[in-house]
Amino acid sequence: MLSIRAPFAWLCPGRLSPDVQVDCDGGTVEYVGRVHPVPSDAELIVTNGFLLPAAADRHVHIELGDPVAMLQRGVTAVRDLAWPADRIFALAETSEVPGFNGPLIRAAGPMLTGPGGYPTTADWAPPGTGREVSASEVAAAAVAELVTLGAAAIKVSLNAEEGPTPSDAVLTAICDAAHAADVPVTAHAEGEGQVERALGAGIDELAHAPWTHRLGDDTIAMAAERMRWVSTLAIHGHGGDTPALRTALDNVRRFHAAGGTVVYGTDLGNGPIPSGIHTLELRLLREAGLDADAMLAALTRAPLEPGAPADLIVAADSPVGDPGALDDLLVVVRAGRVVLRRDDL
Ligand SMILES: [Zn+2]
Repeated sequence: MLSIRAPFAWLCPGRLSPDVQVDCDGGTVEYVGRVHPVPSDAELIVTNGFLLPAAADRHVHIELGDPVAMLQRGVTAVRDLAWPADRIFALAETSEVPGFNGPLIRAAGPMLTGPGGYPTTADWAPPGTGREVSASEVAAAAVAELVTLGAAAIKVSLNAEEGPTPSDAVLTAICDAAHAADVPVTAHAEGEGQVERALGAGIDELAHAPWTHRLGDDTIAMAAERMRWVSTLAIHGHGGDTPALRTALDNVRRFHAAGGTVVYGTDLGNGPIPSGIHTLELRLLREAGLDADAMLAALTRAPLEPGAPADLIVAADSPVGDPGALDDLLVVVRAGRVVLRRDDL
């Protein structure tokens, strides 16, 4: 058993607690509450920091990053959104072993796309990162195969600026096949009208907050009701101010205000993005109107409560006022295993 104490903790939206103890039994949280004595054979870590659930990054290309640094810097779970099937699903399975030196990896496998479409000729993408589907039956068969391999989501390319995209009929076939298997569909939507096409086909999520066009209010309202967006705001300018960033922030601001769910994702592998919690991404979420509660909810996988995965971090300071505090971690726990423990606690 592992117990951690901290003078402050964020457990879930609306629950900021003083003097918290968390007890973990194996990979699961068993107790969250007031400090109480622990059995003599338990491992006890008493910190002077700010405790919260560990981070989950919903959009990475993990082989383009550093899994060890990812884990050391507070990310205990990731979702890989496009990589060759023969490489990513084996790695995802390996990552399930609690001793794996990296985050838990869930994967989509290859991105489904139109013949010759994005990312089949993209520089960053090894052969097999895009899978061309030309007809509804082919697309449905591809979805079934990916589900069998363990796909956590199906990724579709609606990047009209870099090549052909699947037809509306093929898109619908992809969504129907995925939904029949209870697997969500996420889309890279780029270019005018592509978000509207995604909504029309029943796509569940956008893998990037839309940045090429300012969406109409009706589209925003419909998206807020039916979709989740993965943020990836920092890919636009990587800290600089760009028109694409302004457009993305404006879309996210209105989507969030309309009740839409935004989750944290960095697109690790797309430019100079650090492996680990990317605090620039969190600052941009705040700029898009998410308060500290909403930002931390976007960053984390589940409320810190009994039954939750024993994935925790302790930061030296509170990230409520400044997300940059998450650059300075004292403790990282994945599946009940202490993977970082700084001596200067
Ligand atoms: Zn990506």
